[in-house]
Amino acid sequence: MVTKRVYCVGMFFGAHVSVAGGVQNAPLNAAKIGCEVFQFFSRSPQGGPAPKLTSENVEAFLKSCKELDMREWVIHTPYYINFASGEERTRKNSVRIVREELERGTTLNAKYVMFHPGSAKDVGKDKARKFVIDGIKHIYDKYSGACELLIEISAGAGMVIGDTFEEIAELIEGVGHPKLGVCFDTQHAFASGYDLRTKEAVEETFKKFDKIIGLKKLKMSHCNDSKVELAGHRDRHEHLGEGHIGLKGFDAIVNHPKLKHMNLYLETEHDKVVEDLKKLKKMREGK
Ligand SMILES: [Zn+2]
Repeated sequence: MVTKRVYCVGMFFGAHVSVAGGVQNAPLNAAKIGCEVFQFFSRSPQGGPAPKLTSENVEAFLKSCKELDMREWVIHTPYYINFASGEERTRKNSVRIVREELERGTTLNAKYVMFHPGSAKDVGKDKARKFVIDGIKHIYDKYSGACELLIEISAGAGMVIGDTFEEIAELIEGVGHPKLGVCFDTQHAFASGYDLRTKEAVEETFKKFDKIIGLKKLKMSHCNDSKVELAGHRDRHEHLGEGHIGLKGFDAIVNHPKLKHMNLYLETEHDKVVEDLKKLKKMREGK
């Protein structure tokens, strides 16, 4: 049974859900665990061509989203995207795939597609940033869809691009597209050295974000606690309250007056994602 929400103020919460059996199954998978919004892969994250979206699939997907009262849904791009690769073929493929996901997102009425720019280990940071900017510009070539593109903040492992607010601002400025936005990720930001453990720390971090990138560019956030410490520079998600960020930090994010415009998406293991969602809803209710 799927129970409907009674009321809601501020943010909506959801999780990354499976599309096993077809994209049309995602909304029900989301509703079953208590999501109000959801994220999914529209194609295999490991590789291969995207499954064709038939009109039956799309219709069933949209009907299900409506019936289940989903507020927003977004698409995560595959893991192998790397705009900064030393291989031209990889760079071109990355552009083609993200563009395809934007088109597919538009067909599925998804609000955003988010991606990680990639790693600078082949070509060094300066050239990598240039490659990323060129790549994103190409994604937008003659694109007129409604689905919007977001750069996701990285955890800062190795020579990854997009782990600081300054670097993200540089990419956004370099591309110069009015709709290019940012997907925050609490775990990645924390691992990159942005503290989120207390109300004061959250205030400070988003003040910095506002100053360097601008809060209007902040469109959504992945919501994960962290298995690694502040500035641990590794991408390791943990259930809310069981990691180094802690519940106080998430409470401060949920109740931050300037963050009400964005929704939170859990990317924690599915064993306890239901509990994670319940925790967020409690925070929203002020409990
Ligand atoms: Zn994430």
